[in-house]
This record gives sequence, structure tokens and C-alpha cells, in this order.
Amino acid sequence: MSQTEHSAHIIALANQKGGVGKTTTTINLGTALAATGKRVLLIDLDPQGNASTGLGIEGEARDPSTYDVMIDDTPLDDVCHSTIVPGLFIAPSTTDLSSVDMELFEDAGRAARLRTALDRVRNEYDYVLIDCPPSLSLLTVNALTAASSVIVPLQTEFFALEGLSQLMSTIREVKQALNPELDLLGVVLTMYDRRNNLSAQVAEDARATLGDKVYETVIPRNVRLSEAPSHAIPALLYDNTSAGSLAYQRLAAEILKREQNSRLVGAE
Ligand code: ADP
Ligand code: MG
Repeated sequence: MSQTEHSAHIIALANQKGGVGKTTTTINLGTALAATGKRVLLIDLDPQGNASTGLGIEGEARDPSTYDVMIDDTPLDDVCHSTIVPGLFIAPSTTDLSSVDMELFEDAGRAARLRTALDRVRNEYDYVLIDCPPSLSLLTVNALTAASSVIVPLQTEFFALEGLSQLMSTIREVKQALNPELDLLGVVLTMYDRRNNLSAQVAEDARATLGDKVYETVIPRNVRLSEAPSHAIPALLYDNTSAGSLAYQRLAAEILKREQNSRLVGAE
């Protein structure tokens, strides 16, 4: 083991709803953090592999993948790819990942498989961002067991807050049973449409319910964010002046600032 105490801040991006911006946030927050000089590893823990596709990792290059990490103890170092973004790395996934729940059914240590894998590489990175699948399955439980923080992307649309209590109780259960370090780091409002009163209403409700857990930075609905993955590059590289790119840069700055402030408070 290295003698350095350096250890990555491991953040799970979780919400059991699909299409709320988990993957978009993982890719673009990861890119924005890497652009500030941080070394960032993205873990694609969704069998759909959207983060892998969005960063240009072709299907044939996804062998080994996070499935092998979960099932065969394949070291993450053997799975990681560099990306077009300097300092940004990704461990890609394939659809194989969808059978992990069943394959690990009888494994008593099944919830901590990713944690064990990350323990071996956490001194190599500043941040590890885990892109969770849209479920509260064993994969998400693995992400929550490996992470010290959770960021919840919340789509500013009707029903956004519904299901949040289920996610919060899963976080509580994992914290109690498996990972006392785990905390909700923040909630990021996504796909905000300022022409739509509903967006404003949902944002207001979220702030009333979750207080300052909700980041000041709001991610707008922005076509560049949805176009970029089809070009297999992060929006920040596709169009770094778009409203979406700027918002993710602000989000990264806000997260870094909050972290710095909490370190100062902790050091008092
Ligand atoms: P999840 O990972 O939670 O399923 P995604 O990040 O894949 O969600 O987003 C779902 C869809 O919405 C994708 O097609 C994505 O490109 C698009 N999308 C995400 N965030 C935005 C945004 N802020 N503006 C416009 N489209 C977005
Ligand atoms: Mg996704």
C-alpha cells in the first residue's frame, strides 16, 4: 500500500427514477472537476452503459467491465480507460451487469464488492463518481456502501419529490448496517425550465423540504447537454459556452467550495 494518506472522495449519484439526469451529471460534473486539475474516476454501474457510451468507450473495449469487478474481483485498474478529458477516467459497464443481483444472491459480502475494489485504487484519485442504475437494487446498494457521499439529481418536474423518501430510507439503512460514513452531500435540481412555472414550483418545494442540501446551482434544460452524448464527448467539450456546460462548471465550483468550508469547520 502507498504510504500517502490521500484518499478519493467517493460520491454515488443516485435516484431510483430513470431519466432524471444522473448520467448527464456524472459525466459533466466529472469533466468539470477534472478541468480544475482533479483526477477523477467515473464508475459506470448502470447496465445501460450510458456513461460509457457518452465518453466514447466502444462496446468491444468494455471487456473487462464493471461486471468483472463485481463478479470476478477484477482490479479496477484493469478496467479503467482514459478519456478525451485529461484527468478523467472511466470504468465502463455492459448489459452483463444486470445479472449481478442474481449471481451474487448467495454471497454474504455482496453489498461490499465495489467497496473492496475501490479500496485498492482510492489513493490514485481525488474523486470517484459512481453512476447508479435507476433502481434501489444491489448495484445501488454497492455504490452506497462504497461511497462516503450521495448526490441526488432531482428533475424539476411533477412527482420529482415522490420516491425521495424511499431513497432516503435506503441511504439510512445502508448507513446503519453497512457504511456509517455515508451522508447525503447534496441535491441537484436538473432540467430546469425557467419558462415553466412548474419548474419553479418544484424547485421551491425541494428547497422547502431539503433546505440547504439543495445546491444553489440549478442545471437548466439545455439541448447541448442532450446532444453531446451522441458525439461521445462531454457537453463541456462539445460546447463549453452552452448554458448546460456553464451550469456544471458552477456546480463543480460549488461542491469544491462547500467541501473546503466543511474542512475549515472540521479543523476548528
Ligand atoms: P438518468 O441517468 O438519471 O437516467 P440521464 O442523465 O441519462 O438520466 O438523462 C435522461 C435524458 O435527458 C438523456 O437523454 C439526457 O441527454 C437528457 N438530459 C439530461 N439532463 C438534461 C438537461 N439538463 N437538459 C436537457 N436534456 C437533459
Ligand atoms: Mg443513467
